[in-house]
Amino acid sequence: MDLDSRFDVPLRGVDVDDETRCAHYRTDRDVVAIKFACCGVYYPCHRCHEALADHDPERWGADDRDEPAVRCGVCGAELAVDAYLTSGHRCPDCDAPFNPGCEAHRSLYFEV
Ligand SMILES: [Zn+2]
Ligand SMILES: [Zn+2]
Ligand SMILES: [Zn+2]
Repeated sequence: MDLDSRFDVPLRGVDVDDETRCAHYRTDRDVVAIKFACCGVYYPCHRCHEALADHDPERWGADDRDEPAVRCGVCGAELAVDAYLTSGHRCPDCDAPFNPGCEAHRSLYFEV
C-alpha cells in the first residue's frame, strides 16, 4: 500500500481521515500520528502499523527525545518526542486537545 498523498510527511493507515484519525481510534481527540523508528513512516496507531507494515515495530529510545516523531493532525506540526510527552495532551502549536488515553499506550511507541 502506498503512502497517503494528502499529507506532507510519509503517512499511511487504515481508513485515515483528514486529521489522521484511523479505523481504530476515531474520537475528536485522536488526531496524533506517530512516526515509527523502524521505517520512518507515520501511522495513526500501532494497529495501523501492524496491519500495513511488513515488519515488527520499533520504538524510539531514551536518546531520541529530540526526534520529530509526532504529527498533529489538526495543524500539521511535527513535534519532538519530548515536546509531545510533556505537552499536557495539547498541541503546543495550535492548542488542539489530544486524547489523554493515549498515555496508556505510550510504551508501544516510546521507551520511557
Ligand atoms: Zn515500521
Ligand atoms: Zn489505527
Ligand atoms: Zn497542532
